[in-house]
Amino acid sequence: MDKRLRGFLIYAFILLLVIGIIVVLFMYVHDFFSIDLYNRIISVFIAVFITVMVLLTAATAVIFIAFRTRKVHPVMIFPVRLGMKLVIPFALFVAGALKKDKDMIRSLFIDINNLFVEAGDIRKEPDKIMLLLPHCLQNSECSRKITGDAANCINCGRCTIGAVREMAKEKGVKLRVVTGGTAARKAIADEKPEIVLSVACERDLAIGISDVSNIPVIGVLNKRPNGPCVNTTVDIGVLRDKLDSMIRSPEEEAEYGGCSEAAGR
Ligand code: SF4
Repeated sequence: MDKRLRGFLIYAFILLLVIGIIVVLFMYVHDFFSIDLYNRIISVFIAVFITVMVLLTAATAVIFIAFRTRKVHPVMIFPVRLGMKLVIPFALFVAGALKKDKDMIRSLFIDINNLFVEAGDIRKEPDKIMLLLPHCLQNSECSRKITGDAANCINCGRCTIGAVREMAKEKGVKLRVVTGGTAARKAIADEKPEIVLSVACERDLAIGISDVSNIPVIGVLNKRPNGPCVNTTVDIGVLRDKLDSMIRSPEEEAEYGGCSEAAGR
C-alpha cells in the first residue's frame, strides 16, 4: 500500500479512537448520573460524537477509494471535502506532535485535491488559466527581475523558468512568478483566473490550496535537488500534460460559444 495512504489511514484511525473513547466516557457518565437534564445533555453529546464518527469513517473510506481508483464520483464530493477539512489537519497535528514527516500528509492532501478538482469542469479558455511558479525555480545567480514580469526572463537555459515561460506563451495562459503565499494571493486577486496550476513545495502548496477556496487550484510539486528553496526545478512534461487537460480545444470553444449565445437569446 502507498506509504502516504497508510500514514493517513493510521491518523484517521487515531482520530476515530479518540472520539470513540470520548463517546465511551460520556456513556459511562450517562449511566452514572440519574438527573434527567444531565442525561439529556449527555445523550445529545453522544449522538453528536457518533454522527461525527460515522461521517469521519465515511470520509476516510471515500478518500481511500478515491486515492486507489484515481476517481472522484459526484456522490463522493461531500465526504472527500469533509475528510480534507477534518482528517488532514488532525493528521498534520499528530504528525507534528510525534515529530513525523508532515510532507507525506501534505503530499497526499495535494494528490486528493487534484483528483477532486480534476473530477470537475476544469477545461477553460487559455487566458482564464494561471500558471503560478515559485521564485525558487529561478537560478540563484540570475539577476533578471522576473517576479514583476516573467517576460524579463531571456530563457538562457540555466533554470526551468525559461522553458515554462515559453510553454505558457505557446499555450496562451497567464504566468506569474511569486515570492510567497501573500504574493500568490495578490497575483490571483489581480489576474482573476478561473483556475490555477500552481508549482511549489508540499507546505506552500497545501497552505495555498487551503487558502484559495473560491478558485480551483491544481498543485504540482517542485523538485529540490539542491535542498529547499534554492535552484528548485519542475517536471515540464507534467506541467504540459496538466495544462493540456485544462485548455479547451477549438471545437469545445465553438460549442461553448454556441451554448452561450443560445442561452443569451
Ligand atoms: S532561464 Fe530565465 S530566469 Fe532562469 S536563469 Fe535564465 S534568464 Fe534567469
